[in-house]
Amino acid sequence: MLWSGWGDPARASELPEPVRRLLRDMLGVHAPEVPAASLGEVRLPPVTLSPPVLAELRDIVGAGHVRSDDDARIRHTRGKSTPDLMRMRAGDGSDAPDAVVLPGSHAEVLELLRACAAHRVAVVPFGGGTSVVGGLVAARQGFAGAVALDLARLNRLISVDTESMVAEMEPGLRAPQAEQLLAGHGLTLGHFPQSFEYATLGGFAAARSSGQASAGYGRFDDMVVGLTVATPRGTLDLGRAPKSAAGPDLRQVILGSEGAFGVITSLRLRVRRAPAERIYEGWRFASFAAGSAALRRLAQDGPVPTVLRLSDETETMVGLTRPEELGGLAADAGCLVIAGYEGPSSEVPLQRERAAEVLSGLGGVSLGPGPGESWAHGRYAAPYLRDSLLAAGATVETLETAGFWSNLPRLYDAVRLSLHASLGSPLVMCHVSHVYGTGASLYFTVVTAQTEDPLAQWEAAKRSVNEAIVTAGGTISHHHGVGRDHREAYAAEIGDLGVEILRGVKDRLDPEGILNPGVLIA
Ligand SMILES: Cc1cc2nc3c(=O)[nH]c(=O)nc-3n(C[C@H](O)[C@H](O)[C@H](O)COP(=O)(O)OP(=O)(O)OC[C@H]3O[C@@H](n4cnc5c(N)ncnc54)[C@H](O)[C@@H]3O)c2cc1C
Repeated sequence: MLWSGWGDPARASELPEPVRRLLRDMLGVHAPEVPAASLGEVRLPPVTLSPPVLAELRDIVGAGHVRSDDDARIRHTRGKSTPDLMRMRAGDGSDAPDAVVLPGSHAEVLELLRACAAHRVAVVPFGGGTSVVGGLVAARQGFAGAVALDLARLNRLISVDTESMVAEMEPGLRAPQAEQLLAGHGLTLGHFPQSFEYATLGGFAAARSSGQASAGYGRFDDMVVGLTVATPRGTLDLGRAPKSAAGPDLRQVILGSEGAFGVITSLRLRVRRAPAERIYEGWRFASFAAGSAALRRLAQDGPVPTVLRLSDETETMVGLTRPEELGGLAADAGCLVIAGYEGPSSEVPLQRERAAEVLSGLGGVSLGPGPGESWAHGRYAAPYLRDSLLAAGATVETLETAGFWSNLPRLYDAVRLSLHASLGSPLVMCHVSHVYGTGASLYFTVVTAQTEDPLAQWEAAKRSVNEAIVTAGGTISHHHGVGRDHREAYAAEIGDLGVEILRGVKDRLDPEGILNPGVLIA
């Protein structure tokens, strides 16, 4: 993973000159005057953990599994939000952990938590490091130091129960590794977020992730049937049946807890048979409202495709890199729906045909498989483009929310208005990214020219848009989580009593407050 950006550095590319020109003419984007810092120029704080504490951590996991070299510290500094990347590009490594610790078992995690609690060392569980909400930065005040607890060594497929369709897997497995291991059994999780190539199973559960095929396979939290969690107070083993009436479901307390209550060390996950057939296709609707109505009908009355997303007019227009695929509709592109079908060959054509009847009955025009295949081909490419845009002087960031169908237009307008009020004339694109019978999530991409202080510019816009989401009755996050960046808005969403409940849980599980301090709740 590129330390100051996304993905494989070999796949990074510069923006072509015509695109730069377009950005300059449309948005006033100019190349930044100061070049991005190199790895060697990153300013790191001194390591504050004492040698005896480091020695104790080494005794627990083995000397080779505690690293405090600059490279390891930099690669575990923050996550991958645009502000995170801006700070790294400016050479700001001030949030670096003192050390990176790589446990090899649940028992070692327990031991580490005990030692860190005894020495008041903050612990940041670290999966793929793709958090976009400030979920990987510990508040250090009052602590002797901070360590990143990298779960990469916990990367086994422990067991597969094909009768129950449940696989037990370790949290440090990255999604592609997990899919590869399951493919050996003819199975899949069906969880394909845009961060698929780097994010881990533990991170998905801890941040309640949702993948691009959530309409068919469900969100990640729907897939979790059991969890083992290491806490400073001991082990929690949760989930002995798919559903239960034995009191409140404590699995739900851990899902979305973002490392603040405990460290997930194994997951029992519902799996599906790997699909024999996959077809993705495009549909055009005259407007976002017409497309939304069609998605709602499918979500409520079926058949529900495996992938279902709708771009608004702006996103559709910008996405028309190959207009010929849309039948020359570029001038009046309307709104693009991507519908995907995955499953047995005996079912996919039938499901596709029945969905097509609904879509065309509601005004949709079939564009065939071309746009669907383009989408599938480029589905993990956008984060690379963000790096190129940042280098060219444009700020690009995404944000998301969700609401009930009846409130969705208000939420859509509120977010757009807020971004325009804060940023002047940004480019704001949106798509409906996940659908349910009762509502949907809206995913926005914002592009704007950087000011002299792009970080302050974005932080002010983000504060306003968070407020706008809360005021318009949306949730502050449908799938990115809370971290530090959404903490205040989350508190407003659940109220003082809600925060007190979470505080009570944290105090019980983590009395010294060492787990991800500052993340989720203050
Ligand atoms: C380019 C890009 C695209 C993205 N696309 C999507 C998307 O389509 N859908 C989506 O849902 N999200 C998306 N995300 C957000 C992010 O990938 C998800 O939040 C993901 O769940 C994080 O997984 P991770 O392994 O990287 O976790 P990390 O970023 O390492 O950690 C996330 C949080 O969980 C905690 N944590 C991690 N592992 C554990 C564990 N084992 N036990 C306890 N706590 C733990 C961390 O302390 C942190 O607070 C995207 C992010 C980027 C940068």
